[in-house]
Amino acid sequence: MTKNNVTHNYVPSNSRVLMLLGQLERMNGEAMLKDVETARQVTAKILHLIQTQGKRKHAHTHTHIKTNMQSTLIKLKRKQRQLCCMCLRQNSRDVQTTLNILCIVSELLTVGRGRRVGVFVSKGGTGVLFQLLINASKEFPPSEELMLQLHSLLAKVGPKDRKFGVKARLTGALNVTINLMKQNLLNNKLLLPCLQVLRVYSSNLVNAVSLGKNGVVELMFKIVAPYTVDFVNEQHECETNARRAVDGGFVTVLLALYLDWHRNDTRHRHMLIRKGLLVSLRNITNIKLGRKAFIEADGMRILYNTSTECLPVRTLDLLINTSSLIMRKCFPKNRLPVPTIKSAFHFQLPNVPAAGPVAQLYNQPPGVDDVVDESDDNEEADADTENDTENDDDDKDLLNDDIETDLNKLHPKRNPGRPLEELRVYERFFLELSEDFQVAKMSILTNRNSSCIGIVILCESPVRKARPRTELSEGLQLDQRKTHPAVSVCTHSYSSCSSDSSRTGHHPPHQGPRQKREVPHSFPRHRYKIVSFSGADDTTGASECSNFGSDCGSEGTEDEGGEGAVLEVPDTALLLPLHDPDLYVEMVKGTRSVPEYAEVAYPDYFGHVAPTFKEPLLERVYGVQRSKIYQDIERLIHPNDILDKAVYDLDIPSCPVIEDNGESLKFNSQFESGNLRKAVQVRKYEYDLVLNSDVNSNHYHQWFYFEVSGMRVGTVYRFNIINCEKSNSQFNYGMQVLMYSVQEAISGRPRWVRTGADICYYKNHFARSSIAAGGQKGKSYYSMTFSTTFSHKDDVCYFAYHYPYTYSTLKMHLAKLEALRTPQIYLRQDNLCETLGGNGCPLLTITAMPESNSNDHICQFRNRPLIFLSARVHPGETNASWVMKGTLEFLMGTSPLAVSLREGFIFKIVPMLNPDGVINGNHRCSLSGEDLNRQWLNPNPELHPTIYHTKSLLQYLVHMQRTPLVFCDYHGHSRKKNVFMYGCSVKETVWQSNITASSSDLQEDLGYRTLPKILSQIAPAFSMGSCSFVVERSKESTARVVVWREIGVQRSYTMESTLCGCDQGKYKGLQIGTRELEEMGAQFCVSLLRLKRLTGLRNHQHLLDLENDIMTHTKVVRLVKWRILQSHLHTQLMHEGTHML
Ligand SMILES: [Zn+2]
Repeated sequence: MTKNNVTHNYVPSNSRVLMLLGQLERMNGEAMLKDVETARQVTAKILHLIQTQGKRKHAHTHTHIKTNMQSTLIKLKRKQRQLCCMCLRQNSRDVQTTLNILCIVSELLTVGRGRRVGVFVSKGGTGVLFQLLINASKEFPPSEELMLQLHSLLAKVGPKDRKFGVKARLTGALNVTINLMKQNLLNNKLLLPCLQVLRVYSSNLVNAVSLGKNGVVELMFKIVAPYTVDFVNEQHECETNARRAVDGGFVTVLLALYLDWHRNDTRHRHMLIRKGLLVSLRNITNIKLGRKAFIEADGMRILYNTSTECLPVRTLDLLINTSSLIMRKCFPKNRLPVPTIKSAFHFQLPNVPAAGPVAQLYNQPPGVDDVVDESDDNEEADADTENDTENDDDDKDLLNDDIETDLNKLHPKRNPGRPLEELRVYERFFLELSEDFQVAKMSILTNRNSSCIGIVILCESPVRKARPRTELSEGLQLDQRKTHPAVSVCTHSYSSCSSDSSRTGHHPPHQGPRQKREVPHSFPRHRYKIVSFSGADDTTGASECSNFGSDCGSEGTEDEGGEGAVLEVPDTALLLPLHDPDLYVEMVKGTRSVPEYAEVAYPDYFGHVAPTFKEPLLERVYGVQRSKIYQDIERLIHPNDILDKAVYDLDIPSCPVIEDNGESLKFNSQFESGNLRKAVQVRKYEYDLVLNSDVNSNHYHQWFYFEVSGMRVGTVYRFNIINCEKSNSQFNYGMQVLMYSVQEAISGRPRWVRTGADICYYKNHFARSSIAAGGQKGKSYYSMTFSTTFSHKDDVCYFAYHYPYTYSTLKMHLAKLEALRTPQIYLRQDNLCETLGGNGCPLLTITAMPESNSNDHICQFRNRPLIFLSARVHPGETNASWVMKGTLEFLMGTSPLAVSLREGFIFKIVPMLNPDGVINGNHRCSLSGEDLNRQWLNPNPELHPTIYHTKSLLQYLVHMQRTPLVFCDYHGHSRKKNVFMYGCSVKETVWQSNITASSSDLQEDLGYRTLPKILSQIAPAFSMGSCSFVVERSKESTARVVVWREIGVQRSYTMESTLCGCDQGKYKGLQIGTRELEEMGAQFCVSLLRLKRLTGLRNHQHLLDLENDIMTHTKVVRLVKWRILQSHLHTQLMHEGTHML
């Protein structure tokens, strides 16, 4: 009933509209001109009908009504342009009729929303409107109502018309609008739609410039109204207009306006205006001139003060964040407070390739580091990472440009490299492949010394029952190393190696029995809680060390007179079976560092016992970054509060520690792997720290390891590492720094603990020049800031980026591994070569002794598949060493799995590919100033000896037709969580790229996925989802790609362990510790056993597992490509099936 009624009412009105429209059409032309009155009436009626229909439409939602009405509107809509043309023809005659028609169009467009506007535009409606506008402007005075209506329509249509800006300029409508505005500055009703239209105009860059020329920027400052602001912003995004705004002194105006709104908008109702003004300032300060004007107009102080007042109101965050962005951008760029950003240490290379990085570095002109506020760059100071969610797509974006698309390069082409004659010298590293156990077995079993002279002697040194009583100070003093020539770890193979590598003889080899040096058993008793470790025969007289004795003497006695306790070195032998402080000190003596370090850091001396408590990822407190940034800005606002006092400075070689009256902390990092260059006390409890660049380079710092003493208990200290380089860091996503307290160690808790509050990582106001940055435009540095309190008086604490693992620690562990040897274990330690810095590069061989010396058993022994492992090519990735430690200990273990592993494989392991980098506190490079993991394509025997000889070992194996089953290089990853692998697959590379490949190109065994798949099942920290098997161009000279492509190892991987923690699996939400890392190393071994079983059996289930695996990784494999894979799998299955039959 209702339905019928309603419908009944509607039909006539609809048909009436159409009827009237018909009438109007018939009136077209002459008739309309003659009968102005009728035209007015007809149009008015149509308008009325439409408007009432519109209202009813809102009142009734019945579908039938809707449909009915819509059909009418559709018919009308088709006539929209026609209607406009009608206006055009008669508009000069009758404004009222035109207005009516425009209103009708407007109604129709409103009802139709976006799509109808689109149709209107496509039919040329915009052009007609502009023409109407031009015509109307010729009347004097132009009809305000008409102008209003036209601009409203244009504002509606403009954003849908891509050529709107061009049309406006060509028809002259641009100027019509501007003139209209200039003449109606106080007419808000009219200004509003004009501003809206203007905003659309100026989205076209040419228009923006032209509007600027016409004085629109000035005009805008006269009409600061809500709508202006957005418009102004778009105007200022254009550089010339920003310049014009600066020239016109508008920075001051904008700041004054902002301050005004800030003061008067007490109820925060006009956030948009305030935000808009700030965005304007932000755009203007994209240019250098704008930043200068901002500083001159006291912008820093104004924004700092206003923001500080906004801080308590959460809803004003937007304003604070934008203000902070502007202030950070305008903060004058400083150079780092060091004489040069080149490393404080230089190492003279045997030869310096003219085109190499070192030659380039040292050919830079003086003063190169000076930072100038460079260009008018639009580079925003990093968006606030406050609420940023972790984004690990960074890598994937890069990946797309970086995928290898050259099919030739994608197909592994085994390249044996050097001729066999040359490679024969490597035979001595593979004695297990040739050794005749009839004799050799006996010699190995009875005389271990033959397999590892250096190590065994160390192990045989008398075990001291009484642990040395030591005194603590800032670092242990070793006796002067110069009087104790370094001893190479393994003399066994040294001589042989030196004959084939073209050593220059910078470091004469130290052969023969090593000098035994007893660490004295008894120490003079001191009454200090913390005193210096010094040997009885210590002849320390070097000037650089003389500070310590006196220092310590004066420090303890008075303050701590009461206690007088002598503290013992914690006996960690039970907790740390592979750690021995005395042995460590012995090892340090044989370690050669560029700065010739004479101290041992306590953590390396005492060792580290992983804590049993959980260390969850740090939850970020809201607003931390902001408050840190504001404290930084305060340095500029209140310069008098800043101490700016250097308290440690490596660039003052004789005396890096600067004496003071006890008001400052003491810093030190002159020990193995240490790399603090300078510490500046900026406020009473705040320090800026500068890290040293890798030796022979001027950047690559990220790793840190330093010592702090002289602290007050309970005081919150803030530390800022001010020359970080990466644009983001896991320190923003839950990672904490590591701290080691000597007092805790002495109390029986020798351990690194995750620590630090208010941690964040952000772009700061320090930068380097473009020349120093290697031709890229000057780069900003980043700050990593953390706060901490100390709980012990007179403590010596250490801070590190990750759990330190020095070269001397490795040597100590390797020596201790010997002790785990049983008659069933074949363990050989060789020295692969000597590094540039004169340190040995250990090479380990681990397998099981042959069951007997029968031919069969010897044959089985020799034919075991080889597994080749390496680690720590990047010195800053200490986690890789902890994983390696886990691997080695597992392999030397007594578990049945370990026995099976040894019986099944021969392990060749280079546990530290970059000893020099590790020793000298580098983050990335070796002493050649280069990333060694980018040298595998063509390693230089002099500059990259460890890589050259490791690659040669593999090339030798190719010649011997003993290509390893698995190659894996252990790394650490600073931007991702979990542990994962990178491998190489032609198929997956092709799929990720857009290259077309024939199906024969895609013939590939899926074996490369097996090992990571197994690991994801057994190792809790391992995440299959983070693995990638794509071959990248930028990685073509890495171990993984070269070993895959040239050596022909299908299962060639890098295994990346997080420096931070896990976001999946058993350890989800926890930071990673050494226990988890070592476990990972052990699990890697276990996975090899499973791999052996699977590759041995080759059953269906194995392949089906793989299939499941791949299906769950749609992230990597796109669906379409999955189908190809499926068919391949199918074929493979069929193939396997027939074999089984
Ligand atoms: Zn790495």
